[in-house]
Amino acid sequence: MTQTATVSMDKIVSLCKRKGFVFQASEIYGGIGNTYDYGPLGVELLRRVKDAWWNRIVVERDDVVGLDSAIIQNPKVWEVSGHVGGFSDPMVDCKKCKARFRADKLEDARCPEKPSKIPGQCAGELTEARAFNLMFKTNIGPVEATGSTAYLRPETAQGIFLNFQNVMNSGRLKPPFGIAQIGKSFRNEITPGNFVFRTREFEQAEMEFFVPPAESDRWYAYWREQRYEWYLALGLDESKLRMRDHAAEELAHYSTGTADIEYEYPFGWGELEGIACRTDFDLSRHAEASVVDLRYFDPETKERWFPYVIEPAGGINRMALTFLIDAYEEQPLEKETRTVLHFHPEIAPITVGVFPLVKKEGMPERAREIEAELRRARVATFYDEKGAIGRRYRRQDEAGTPYCVTIDGETLSDDVVTVRHRDSMQQERVKSAEIREYILEQMRTWKRPQREG
Ligand code: ATP
Repeated sequence: MTQTATVSMDKIVSLCKRKGFVFQASEIYGGIGNTYDYGPLGVELLRRVKDAWWNRIVVERDDVVGLDSAIIQNPKVWEVSGHVGGFSDPMVDCKKCKARFRADKLEDARCPEKPSKIPGQCAGELTEARAFNLMFKTNIGPVEATGSTAYLRPETAQGIFLNFQNVMNSGRLKPPFGIAQIGKSFRNEITPGNFVFRTREFEQAEMEFFVPPAESDRWYAYWREQRYEWYLALGLDESKLRMRDHAAEELAHYSTGTADIEYEYPFGWGELEGIACRTDFDLSRHAEASVVDLRYFDPETKERWFPYVIEPAGGINRMALTFLIDAYEEQPLEKETRTVLHFHPEIAPITVGVFPLVKKEGMPERAREIEAELRRARVATFYDEKGAIGRRYRRQDEAGTPYCVTIDGETLSDDVVTVRHRDSMQQERVKSAEIREYILEQMRTWKRPQREG
């Protein structure tokens, strides 16, 4: 596979706005830091990424079930999990420009003064680093009294630990089994975000896989590999993906193994997803604090034990951004450069563009019929009759639509349509009665195209 040229973040941000993937939140009021809204194409992309994750982790397996736990839990949860005391970033303040930066990410930060510099380079003195808790606080009830403080969850995982027994007992489950959840998490991030890479609210996809302690090394290796393979199967460039195992001194005190799947973003290598063996840390802490026995009881051996937990934890928005960056290509053609997103068809926001060649002679009507058929079969379509056919293809290339179906004069007489492929730009004639099956087959056999470096 060839290595693809790195695209700048500015180009990604501008494409996202132009095509309706991502907008700045509260834009008309000047925005709000590190917060974004997703437009029509963006929301479809997020949905497809979530479905692809859920299908792989839950639907295709018989040992993982789903959960949807509350965002606001009993505040005790976050004390026991260690988030109240320890979920913080070290922050420094610049005494000159008064801005605040993450002490461990100074090289990524820029100070607000112009020309902006790396903090400390503007001759402003930086304060000592202080811990800044990342959790958003809120209040329960009408009065802001002591004891009414609650937190917006900074991760979805704790909701899974809290429901471990409920899920196990109601489903009559026995380790090894997993509980998966997709949902919003909130972190009061201070560092600049690199667009949607780091935002204050984001969706996480997490799975806690509970195993007999003696099997934890094997399951950790298994999930580490499974998650890496998933990104490759969805078309990410292998040369921009790597697995980084945490060194012993980097591991959380309770973890026997942690690895990050990293991607080479335009701003450098960054974490896309983490896989960790969390041992029995969370269950045993919650059992102790709640005085509820959260051990598994084995009816055969009559033994009670805490399972160990393997956790793959990724961010849906970060995944979507990664697929977008990876899919982006400015491809030089003979007379022009085309911008194209080579999404895997499974995650492309629109699967098929449907066009009448011209806006007359019954072509729009036939095109509408074919489009309606595809929609009924749950194929995401987009109907377009505006402008030259070449321009319509380009618009769908930029949206990442893998196939376009054009209805022309011949379609009306012999019911054959033209299918144009986004990646190769090649065209084929296909019987309109077979179009749905043809598209589904193409989706199943899609391969990431080779690209110029
Ligand atoms: P980072 O080091 O980037 O702050 P983290 O190690 O704190 O991430 P985890 O707590 O392991 O992240 O969260 C799991 C996943 O959730 C990350 O791999 C990432 O994909 C996603 N994620 C975490 N924080 C954010 C954020 N602020 N915005 C978007 N996605 C995030």
